[in-house]
Amino acid sequence: MTDHKTPETLIEVKDLKMYFPVTKGIVLRRKIGDVKAVDGLTFSIRKGETLGLVGESGCGKSTTGRALIQLYKPTTGEVIFHGTDLTKLPAEQMRQMRRKVQMIFQDPYASLNPRMTVGDIIAEPIMVHNLRKGKEAVRERVQELLKLVGLNPYFINRYPHEFSGGQRQRIGIARALAVEPEFVVCDEPVSALDVSIQAQILNLLEDLQNQLGLTYLFIAHGLAAVKHISDRVAVMYLGKIVEIAAGAQLYHTPTHPYTQALLSAVPIPDPALERTRARIILTGDVPSPLNPPSGCRFHTRCPIATEHCKQEEPELKDIGGGHMVSCHRSSEAIALMAVDKK
Ligand code: SF4
Repeated sequence: MTDHKTPETLIEVKDLKMYFPVTKGIVLRRKIGDVKAVDGLTFSIRKGETLGLVGESGCGKSTTGRALIQLYKPTTGEVIFHGTDLTKLPAEQMRQMRRKVQMIFQDPYASLNPRMTVGDIIAEPIMVHNLRKGKEAVRERVQELLKLVGLNPYFINRYPHEFSGGQRQRIGIARALAVEPEFVVCDEPVSALDVSIQAQILNLLEDLQNQLGLTYLFIAHGLAAVKHISDRVAVMYLGKIVEIAAGAQLYHTPTHPYTQALLSAVPIPDPALERTRARIILTGDVPSPLNPPSGCRFHTRCPIATEHCKQEEPELKDIGGGHMVSCHRSSEAIALMAVDKK
């Protein structure tokens, strides 16, 4: 985690949309609509910071991560990295740029080829990008990376199945770092791990960030998972960012009703406080991104929705100090939600 002394923007995302066409019929595939997985995101990530991206399953957070590093080609919008719009880069130039933008996946086992040794898995990107000359230099670099992520360099000839879940995630991290990236999308990197191992991997990611000056987009399901690692946190609901703020600000004054509901689900380590506090239970399921609700997309589940909310979509507005909220009732939402909880 950084100390906010570096305001330089590394990634700027402008009106990013990622739609997936839905078709009907086996022979004549007729398009019947689009799943609007990501629907008009605008935000930026500063060099050296960690932006946490949080939301329920299906809200579009993983799709956003993949669209940022062009694993998915966005439908429209811009992803400006070092002044270059990645969405417009020809394939060959994007291949070169991919070195700078990497991803750590949720399931370390599924993302590692079981037939390759750890040495070959980590060596592959080094050789593809021609970062070391000769077999010995590549081997040395692989061993250096294993050490960097806290693994014994003598493990180089072992296969993924010979490692524990936490060790496999360390291998995934070493592979991502092999190409010396600047920006890393961490897609729920600890959610498949035992709770006892999660803190170790989070600490490793923080140490590596400080050591190598990395910038992270850290994707997680709930607010608890990103609390300690994020400088700022963005909350997504049904393809849109509904609130974005500095971590401390968001946890102290969550303003959007959805953020308040997510935060009320985070357990408090004090049993007395935990017993007495009120929970905001959201009713209903997340609506389909194929046919999102009119106006504010959260109105079907929001305890303080009005008629206006159903008609007009709220803009993501700065309510002070870079705290952005997309809610017609942001000025009164904290008080209203508190009343609603009683
Ligand atoms: Fe709730 Fe309305 Fe705010 Fe949406 S705009 S979060 S429906 S109060």
